[in-house]
Amino acid sequence: MKTPFNKPYLTGKEAHYLYQAVYSGHISGNGVYTKKCQAFFEERFGFKKTLLTTSCTDALEMCALLIDIQPGDEVIVPSYTFVSTALAFVRQGAKLIFADSRKDHPGMDESSLESLITPKTKAIVPVHYAGVACDMEIVMEVAKKHNIFVIEDAAQAIDSYYTVTKLHSSLGDQGAKLALGSIGHLATFSFHETKNIQCGEGGLLAINNDRFEKRAEVLWEKGTNRAEFFRGEVNKYGWVDTGSSFLPNELTASFLYAQLEEMDSIQQRRKEIWNGYYEGLKDWANENKVHLPLVPDYATNNGHMFYLICPNADFRTMLIKHLKNENIHAVFHYLSLHKSEYIEKLQYMTQDCPLSDEYTDQLLRLPLYYELKSLSSIISIITNYKHL
Ligand SMILES: *Cc1c(COP(=O)(O)O)cnc(C)c1O
Repeated sequence: MKTPFNKPYLTGKEAHYLYQAVYSGHISGNGVYTKKCQAFFEERFGFKKTLLTTSCTDALEMCALLIDIQPGDEVIVPSYTFVSTALAFVRQGAKLIFADSRKDHPGMDESSLESLITPKTKAIVPVHYAGVACDMEIVMEVAKKHNIFVIEDAAQAIDSYYTVTKLHSSLGDQGAKLALGSIGHLATFSFHETKNIQCGEGGLLAINNDRFEKRAEVLWEKGTNRAEFFRGEVNKYGWVDTGSSFLPNELTASFLYAQLEEMDSIQQRRKEIWNGYYEGLKDWANENKVHLPLVPDYATNNGHMFYLICPNADFRTMLIKHLKNENIHAVFHYLSLHKSEYIEKLQYMTQDCPLSDEYTDQLLRLPLYYELKSLSSIISIITNYKHL
């Protein structure tokens, strides 16, 4: 039997809602299902306003426009992340400043932020890697002090939380649980088929600051004030700003809605698998100098990803082979962005990010999806592995 790395889960209701969308006669964007999805996110996670987008990459494009990135602005992004985190800002002419990972976690080292800020810094884009929160009190404090925007790349972080730890925090009462994506000025999510909740390709922009609300709607609808027109707030609509066609059609939204309705069972199953891996692998990991994922006290685990940090690149290569011999597909990802071909071409001086390079060489992701059946056999295959 083959175990793929990922298998997109279907709840069974997708085709039903798709059918309804098709025969409702309205399949362009911003219809019934789009509004249902957006209302779901606003109610459940407390995002002030949300807009569905065609991808998380597109939602990040909207962010770069909303904060009005100009050539010469600097934007701080982690080096160990997906290309999309950086793409939109570069297109608007920003210079990227790369933050290294943490020693104990592949996520961005929050304590390095202060040293990366210059008078040109316009924004920080923290990525909640594996759905595990960045230390948002530190991020927001630094941002406030220097008057810069925070855009959470919460692509992997649906249904995950940050707990306020300090007594007098500007984020809220000590112990308050804040949904990831509700803390920064703006936040983006992905519903790509590799994410917990999926519709093939899809995304969401969460707007937590009033000042962006009106303009976001305009950018979303090709630079027109069409949304206002449909609410009856203006009596004709026209071209008022830049923008693009960032909104998905109702087919995408109806599919997504079927997934949202089942979010609790999807999350429960994924966390069960994650915990199964953790318990089953911890002794082996200890004996073999492998590190398992860390979830700091202030963060929650949303079961997005289970990974191993191998002691070296050779260990990882051999373990991948060992698993492949048993028809199990384990993968690594992210090559440090600061060393990418594209950034080299731009020829700007970048900071070293040695920890990001370590994760590039040593992190290995294990299969994790709703219908994974072979968990115990994957665990015993791994625990039988001894690196020579
Ligand atoms: C998946 C992912 C994206 C891109 O999401 P799309 O919806 O495919 O555009 C961006 N950032 C991170 C951290 C991701 O994991």
